[in-house]
Amino acid sequence: MRFRRCPKCDRQHEIYVVICDCGYQFSDTDKDPSDKIVFGALVGVVVGAMFGYLLRPAIPLIGQQLPFEAVITRGGSLKGLDQLLVGLAQQSFNYLVLGTLIGGIAGAVVGYFARAATNAKPAPVPANSIQASAGYQPQAVSPSLPVTVQLGDSREAVVAALGAPQKVMDLGPKTLYVYPDLKITFVDGKVSDVQ
Ligand SMILES: [Zn+2]
Repeated sequence: MRFRRCPKCDRQHEIYVVICDCGYQFSDTDKDPSDKIVFGALVGVVVGAMFGYLLRPAIPLIGQQLPFEAVITRGGSLKGLDQLLVGLAQQSFNYLVLGTLIGGIAGAVVGYFARAATNAKPAPVPANSIQASAGYQPQAVSPSLPVTVQLGDSREAVVAALGAPQKVMDLGPKTLYVYPDLKITFVDGKVSDVQ
């Protein structure tokens, strides 16, 4: 029985358990990561054996390579005069073995790095940890906009923008609204001057 650990709570589960008691859901990449090494080694063995076999030495002068049967039996299948080639058959067999070994090791190494790359993937960050991070304060929704009074505005518009004036001076056709740092002159009910 194979096991794997929950990365969240460190509980150990049998390999077929998909969801941990803590709620963590295993993805496929969490399955026993040594699979990648084994798989890589197997592929490497097949590919390496193939290359070793294809690259086996040829019969001198003739240029032909020995058939698979002669190679795998290390020359045991050779008959008659062909038995002179036993040495070559053994050499070819060594190529096959060497290719298998190198392929297997290379495949396992590739699998190892593939596993490391998979494990290096950043885990998804739970949403609540984002909210909890480093004293983030949302900014004030409405920063105070500069209040503007324009020539031609009505008294109502000015009061709506600036609030009630400190003083109102009625000067016949003119009216003055006095604010702490502002004096607004109305003529015929419209802003005609701002000081
Ligand atoms: Zn867990």
